[in-house]
Amino acid sequence: MKTQLRTDITIADICKGFQYNELEGKGLFGLDGKLTIQPEYQRNYIYADGKRDVAVIDSIIKGYPLGIIYFNQTGADTYEVLDGQQRITSIGRFLTKKFAIKDCNGMEQYFGSLSKDLQEKIMQTPLLIYICEGEESEIKEWFKTINIAGVPLKEQELLNAIYSGPFVTLAKAEFSNSQNSNVQKWSAYVAGSVIRQDFLHTALDWVSKGCIDNYMSQHRQDNNINELKAYFTSVIDWISTTFKSVEKEMCGLEWGRLYETYHTHAYSSEEVDKTVKKLYGDPYVKNRKGIYEYVLGGCQEHKLIEVRVFDEATKKSVYAKQTKAAEAAGQSNCPLCAIGNNNNKTRIWKLSEMDADHVTAWSKGGATDISNCEMLCSTHNRAKGNK
Ligand SMILES: [Zn+2]
Repeated sequence: MKTQLRTDITIADICKGFQYNELEGKGLFGLDGKLTIQPEYQRNYIYADGKRDVAVIDSIIKGYPLGIIYFNQTGADTYEVLDGQQRITSIGRFLTKKFAIKDCNGMEQYFGSLSKDLQEKIMQTPLLIYICEGEESEIKEWFKTINIAGVPLKEQELLNAIYSGPFVTLAKAEFSNSQNSNVQKWSAYVAGSVIRQDFLHTALDWVSKGCIDNYMSQHRQDNNINELKAYFTSVIDWISTTFKSVEKEMCGLEWGRLYETYHTHAYSSEEVDKTVKKLYGDPYVKNRKGIYEYVLGGCQEHKLIEVRVFDEATKKSVYAKQTKAAEAAGQSNCPLCAIGNNNNKTRIWKLSEMDADHVTAWSKGGATDISNCEMLCSTHNRAKGNK
């Protein structure tokens, strides 16, 4: 890969013909149309937070270095931004009056309201630009290793870079577009940020059953995302018809896996809703995120919802009481050993050799308190199992 350092390109040059697409949330072109600011393997613009974008402008005004910017030469006189897209978009947006900065008196100032001197100073600031030339694979490999202004690339942003092509472009337009009206509905079940590619990541994860790399490589040159979209929609529709109400614990669950495992089972959404509500109201359910898989699996795997266990004080107190009575009667302090026929019939177990058990099982309405606690030796407790 060849690189050439340029120090003669100013902000005025870069921002000539700057276009920002509000709908897609990205800077498009600069350098009078010769510079593509966001090639398809780049992340969307994430500096529009009133902090990072403002910091870029502050740095310029104060004469602080803005860091090195890298362009990839794509033709005789055409370039795309390899690293620096967030900074350039911030500058372009400031020049086109998309946001204001605060002056030393705390007053909001748009570019147009700055003094002519200051406007001129900003426009004439040169940027430090390396122009790189190399094979596409070389450029992308290198792009993987650079860290953009302290915001590391997410895994999906990297994958988008590696497998850039028509498929990624279409997939991003659907799943990385914060203006997509479906995003709000999806947010109930999918966690993360649309523009940081978390939704696209989830959609790919579901359709590929976790083999995202493979899937992206296979579909890289596809001119449609039909399968990706259809699968994602099936999962979302399945969740919203199976579970009538939306709870915050539903967000970010492994819905792809749950769909694969359970979507062929028939559920009554009335019954499911009743059970879910009951579990939400049950003070012994510690892990509400586990409720959904628990219900889908027919309420068998209690481990999923982490039913509250007896605390140490309760165990000690029950142990002391049971042991005292057992010693007086000359029997084992494990009630099941005591009615058995082997050597353990009279054995007094240590506290550490016993476990607490629900006399009436939790799943049958038994409480997790001292009145429903009995200590069993570890063997009997295990044999009694998860009832
Ligand atoms: Zn026992």
